[in-house]
Amino acid sequence: MILKKNGYFQNENTPDFVFVIGGDGTFIYAVHKYLDHLDRARFFGIHTGTLGFYTDYRDRDYEEFIDTFLRGEVREYTYPILEGRTENGVYYGINEIRIENAARTQNMDVYINGRLFETYRGTGMCVSTQLGSTAYNRSLGGAVIEEGLNLIEMCEMAGIHHNKYRSLKAPFVMNDTNRITFVSESFAGALLGADNEVFPMDDVHRLEIRVSPEKRVRMIKGRDISYFDRLKSLF
Ligand code: NAP
Repeated sequence: MILKKNGYFQNENTPDFVFVIGGDGTFIYAVHKYLDHLDRARFFGIHTGTLGFYTDYRDRDYEEFIDTFLRGEVREYTYPILEGRTENGVYYGINEIRIENAARTQNMDVYINGRLFETYRGTGMCVSTQLGSTAYNRSLGGAVIEEGLNLIEMCEMAGIHHNKYRSLKAPFVMNDTNRITFVSESFAGALLGADNEVFPMDDVHRLEIRVSPEKRVRMIKGRDISYFDRLKSLF
């Protein structure tokens, strides 16, 4: 209502601003909904619980948030998105892109920038963005990456390590200019996870992940909340 009174109108298909009310999960869902419209859409997150990594306001601060927005006292920040390519298509991850095989042990060769890095055996692999480092990546024992660092992180999921099969085992934090490729004779039973979405990999042999050169998430913020305060409030 307040926004309408101030000349804004609702446009579900091609919005300039997307107000997301929920949690970090809801925020990610909203970004996926407007993946083809990211050059225009700017996202504003309002959390219904605590503070989130994608949300700066709680629902009880709604009026303050609207006032700040209408006064134009907001700043825009952009964040990278991961792009994953297989023979079947292109997938995007704001938090992470992962391969998970709960059905059988997954073998795969891991290439970094086209060079063989290791052969991995285990349940799967997760490649996360800086923003996603506090999500699935953290549950896998990955490092939390401070906001502002242009990094991505690769984490094993229950890797098998003995004298026949060796892989890094530790989370690998690397520059976000790197390209990671997973290749296997068979990904039968595996799922490709891109944030909240999953896709079967049965007829796929290769997944290449890099930071998308085209797509970025544009977030608007009205408050300066330090990354450390955010971390402290959540964990
Ligand atoms: P979801 O219910 O939307 O999210 C699962 C939980 O992860 C929620 O508590 C959510 O926070 C939190 N979360 C999402 N992004 C986060 C971030 N960047 N930093 C810290 N916490 C974050 O589940 P979903 O729809 O299946 O998947 C969405 C995301 O959840 C995935 O991208 C994945 O990273 C994460 N997830 C994690 C695990 C795990 O750690 N084992 C398992 C499944 C999914 P809110 O309560 O604020 O929404």
